[in-house]
Amino acid sequence: MSFEFLAIDYRHPAFSAAMLLLVVATVAFLDHLLNFSRKKRQAKKLTRFLSRFDSANSGKDYKALLTLQPDSFDSLMLLADINFKSGQYAESIHILLALLEIVVDKSRRVEAMTRLGRSYHKAGFYQRSRDILLESLKLKARNEEALELLLAIYEQTKEYNRALETLDALEELDGERSLERSLLKAKAIENDPLLSAEKKGAALIELSKKEPRLFRLAFEFTLEHNPQNVWRVIDEERIPDALDLFWRMPKDRFIESEALKYPLLRELYAAKGRTDSATNSAIFEFDALIKLGAHKTIADLEFEYRCSGCMASFPVHFTRCPNCQSAEGARVELILTKSAKSDKERYDQSANFY
Ligand SMILES: [Zn+2]
Repeated sequence: MSFEFLAIDYRHPAFSAAMLLLVVATVAFLDHLLNFSRKKRQAKKLTRFLSRFDSANSGKDYKALLTLQPDSFDSLMLLADINFKSGQYAESIHILLALLEIVVDKSRRVEAMTRLGRSYHKAGFYQRSRDILLESLKLKARNEEALELLLAIYEQTKEYNRALETLDALEELDGERSLERSLLKAKAIENDPLLSAEKKGAALIELSKKEPRLFRLAFEFTLEHNPQNVWRVIDEERIPDALDLFWRMPKDRFIESEALKYPLLRELYAAKGRTDSATNSAIFEFDALIKLGAHKTIADLEFEYRCSGCMASFPVHFTRCPNCQSAEGARVELILTKSAKSDKERYDQSANFY
């Protein structure tokens, strides 16, 4: 029996073309099948991930709206934003969770996840915020807003090594941020449980020599933990950053001969009444106190701290602005007030009189 007729068919151009078509169709079908199963796996994984965050019943309305009108994504994002800006973080979270259950577009998911991370962060849920931001970075690694938020969270949770890694990623995106790097290194040293106070102090002083804006941090640490060295770390240029610390310096750490070396401290301690080292000052508050002479006990100084970035002011010192997250630091501002002590003295005197 001969099979020659088969060999003829096999060589026939129509047969080759049919075979090629079949191969192409099979490859396309397999690719489609693989894509479909990959997308299904990703969707399942995401649903599992999101189920860790309780979207509660109030998200149902938003989900229903988005299912009925898929083009309402932008309006719901706007609504989440309005709630965020007015401090309604829980509502903003509900909207964003509902959006994330429905929306499949990758860039929209990244946007909603980043906003969700921001809302969790503001609401004080650092762990949730960190998890959702890390998940968003898996979809888009070069997400600057998510990285900035993560940096703030790692600083707040004192995970300085992770904060430094996040800073590496941010520096790749928008250049060097040497002040923040030095600040994170300083914070890591301050919080290192394996280092003695003396070694911490020495390392902080070393760092502040390279980055003078760290003077206040090094000075404050030394003042508290190694007071015997405090007058050896003064950086005259940076004294304005620490006026409040000099003003409140306990008497047992104050050395008059050391303080008098610096013109600004001569005025500050004359205003405080510890020395007679100045008769006036270019700084209004110091000048007023100096001129009050023996009556200066009726007045006192208080301090507030203004962000050099957004100009918001706060009653406590900060290294990263709580409002705009800038690391540029706080400007120490003086406020002349009525002395609480003088009120008490007047009350005691009047009590004695009657
Ligand atoms: Zn600010």
